[in-house]
Formats: sequence, C-alpha cells, structure tokens
Amino acid sequence: MPTPQPRPVPESRGARFAVLDPATGEAFDEAPDQQPDELDSVVERARRAWHGWRADPAARATALRAAADAVEAAATDLAPLLTREQGKPLTESYAEVARTAARLRYFAELVAQPQPISDGRPVRSEVRWRPLGPVAAIVPWNFPLQLASAKFAPALAAGNTMVLKPSPFTPLATRLLASALATALPEDVLTVVTGREPLGARLASHPGIRHVTFTGSIATGRAVAEGAAASLARVTLELGGNDAAVLLEDVDVEQIADRLFWAAFRNCGQVCMAVKRVYAPDRLCAEVVEALAHRAKSVVVGAGLDPASQLGPVNNAHQLARIERCADQALADGARAAAGGHRLDRPGYFFAPTVLADTPPDSPVVTEEQFGPVLPVLPYRTLDDAVEAANGTGFGLGGSVWGTDLDRAEAVAGRLECGTAWINHHAELSLAQPFAGTKDSGVGVAGGPWGFYGNLQPFVVHRPQEA
Ligand code: NAD
Repeated sequence: MPTPQPRPVPESRGARFAVLDPATGEAFDEAPDQQPDELDSVVERARRAWHGWRADPAARATALRAAADAVEAAATDLAPLLTREQGKPLTESYAEVARTAARLRYFAELVAQPQPISDGRPVRSEVRWRPLGPVAAIVPWNFPLQLASAKFAPALAAGNTMVLKPSPFTPLATRLLASALATALPEDVLTVVTGREPLGARLASHPGIRHVTFTGSIATGRAVAEGAAASLARVTLELGGNDAAVLLEDVDVEQIADRLFWAAFRNCGQVCMAVKRVYAPDRLCAEVVEALAHRAKSVVVGAGLDPASQLGPVNNAHQLARIERCADQALADGARAAAGGHRLDRPGYFFAPTVLADTPPDSPVVTEEQFGPVLPVLPYRTLDDAVEAANGTGFGLGGSVWGTDLDRAEAVAGRLECGTAWINHHAELSLAQPFAGTKDSGVGVAGGPWGFYGNLQPFVVHRPQEA
C-alpha cells in the first residue's frame, strides 16, 4: 500500500449551502452542495480503492491506528467547529472527538477469524470473511463525528471503503475530520460528500453501493431501506428511540436524580437513547418531579462555546419547532410544567429544560420521540402497569430500571422490549458491546465484533477430507 499523503477534501462543482450556528441562528460558513450526479464518480473511485484496501489487513490496522492519532492531533480544531455547528458544550465536543479516535483504535485491532465447520460428514468446510465493497453511511446531526466513526471504523477495519454523508446541519466538522483522516488513509478509502436532499436518497439507492448503514429517524430509515432494495444492498438502520426509565419502589430519589437528569437532558435531549419518559411509583412521583425540576431550573443554558454552559441550544429551527409543538400540546392536554415549558427569549434555538407532571399518557410527548430537553414524569400503580406502559410504543431502542435491590431491578429490566436495558444508568455504551434497536428502532447490529462482522460477507470453502 503506498504511503498516504495529506491532501484536501475534493470540492464539488461550486454550489454551496449555508451552515448556521444554533446559538445565534445565523449563518457562519458554507459547505459544498454536491449534486446526486456527482455520486457516480465518487462511488466508482471508492470501488477502485477497495481492491488495494481489502488486500492487506496488517496495513489497514496500521493506517487506522495512524488515523486515530490524526483525529487526536486535530482535536483543538475539530471540537470548536463541532460546537459551532451542532450547539453542544465544548467539553462534550472534545469528548466526542476522543470517542471517535477510541473507536478507530478499537476496530483497528479486530481481525476476521476463519471458522472451521464440522458436522460429522467427511468434508472440511471453512467459513472465511470477505468485505462487501463500497459502503454508504448516512448520519444525523446530534453526534456527527461519533456516529460517523461508528460507521467508518468497523466498515474500514473489515476491508470496505466508504462514502459518508453527514447531515446538512452539521457538515463542517465531518469535512475537517475527513481531511485529518486523509493524512493516514489511502485516497478514496473514505470520501465525505455534503449536500441537501436528494443526495442521501440517491446515495442509498446507488447501484455501486453494497451496504447502506444509516442512523436517523424511523421515517427516513424506511425510505433508505426502500432505496437500497433497488440494488439489494445490505441495510443497517439505527433509528429513533423513546426510552423509558422505570423507577422502583425502593429507589433512592436524591441519590439517582443527577444521573437520571443527565440521562434525559445531555446534548439537550438530542440523544437517540436518552431517557424520554420516566415512570415513578404513585407514592414517589411528586418527589421525582421535584428533584428533576430543581435540576432543570438550575442548569446553565447558553452558547456551547461559553465555558459556563452546561446545555447548549437545540440544533436547528425545525427541531425547536417540533419540541415546542410537543410541549405546547402536552400543556394543552393538561400537563403541568414543573420547570420550563417554553423556548427562551433570546436569539438562537434555545428551549428551557422542561419537566412535565400530570401528562396524559396518550399525549405526543409520551408516545412520540420529541428529541429535545422535555421530560414527562408519569405515575404508575403496579409494576406490571409500568412495564406495560414502558413497552407500549413502537420504539425499542433502550430502557432502564432504577432501584436499590439490583437483582429485582435486573429482573424488571429483563422484561423491557428494547436492545439495551441499563440498571441505575442509561445510555452508557462500551465499544465492545452490540448496539441494536428492536421493533421500529432498528435493523441489524452495530458495535463490537457484531458491528464488525456486519460489514463482512461469509464465504465458505467446502472440500473433501484428505484420505
Ligand atoms: P433524519 O432521518 O432526518 O436524517 C438523518 C440523515 O438522513 C441526514 O443525513 C439526512 O440528511 C439524511 N436524509 C434525509 N432524507 C433522506 C432520504 N430520503 N434518503 C436518505 N437520507 C436522507 O434524522 P435527524 O433529524 O438528522 O436525526 C434525528 C433522528 O436520528 C432521531 O430520530 C434520533 O433518534 C435518530 N438517531 C438514532 C440513533 C441510533 O443509534 N439509533 C443515533 C442518533 C440519532
């Protein structure tokens, strides 16, 4: 494999679109508005680069380790740019950059292992693993770098090449990331394309793509799967969630309140596996509302670049309107805002951290994914009622159970219909574990060896045993 050299990310034919700072609502830069017909040459270059990239696993691992170093070296440029376009506090952007590098290092060490198969017949079969070819990745705006790395680290480690499309709300940090990675990866192994729809739709249905790995909303996930069906490309979908936290009778409210609060409000609630509904026993409900509302009122909300800010703005005007609609509907349905309940009267896309009591269980803030800093706390009478309510939506991403008796909490966690259930935590993930939504929350598996093998095709060699 030739020694990679630094090089700029390719520009498109000239059209550009504005990128807004959510802390002000004003444009601060632009990104190339690439057109769908540019994808043919991008995918063809990815296909050509694949032949060299797939050939040498040891060289790949070395390149991916160097890529991790390059990401870390670029952290002081990447993190502020990420905060500027995404909104999150700067410390969280640094953490996101660090996780991006960590993911590259983790997957660099994974090697596909041949597996002999023996079923008693006089044949020797062996399963070997082959990369798929050019992979398309499409990601949203809530964790642009981290979610991109969750796609490219396993796909590239498995020997595929990738065309990656970030959200048009957050294209810039991903472009900068691509130029950092370009110092370590051979040309065309990872190409970032930016632009507005139908760029993503055309990428998902491009005939040269062998695997479409998508993170985003359920509605778009369905469209992506339909598009990929045209070429029968493999599809991995990581979709929306509406995670429930079930508090048990023996929970120590004050002890868990900080953790529960941040599990709901981190990144302004714009986390697929944030706590989005809390179920508390009747007896404890008022205390839980009070503990969460107290924190919601005291948290510092401001521009992500201000070191005092603990919560930034939500990412975009469309998102702000959606959150406001959901909160207004809940209040009209009879909910009471124990904290917040409204947008903040200042420029940018700020919504007050909101804790809702007395919310009817059929209000959209409970039944839909509002994806913002709004948290309904709902009372329950029996544990069966709580589990039924927690499982009572089409979502199935994550869930959690909170209590003092860990065995009991684990037994309740086992009844949740979701891909990951936490006890006294929520949304903590290890790089080594699988991550998969059930029901409408996803198709396929990301993370750990499962995510790695999801980027490989089994190839079986079947021969008679030696005489
Ligand atoms: P979205 O579905 O609107 O967009 C996601 C991506 O798809 C963006 O890059 C967008 O430009 C692109 N896109 C839009 N229309 C498309 C089309 N027709 N074909 C192909 N691509 C298209 O989602 P969003 O608003 O950017 O992100 C928020 C959603 O993402 C939430 O539902 C959240 O739960 C989900 N999410 C899920 C996970 C997970 O791992 N399960 C992680 C983060 C976010």
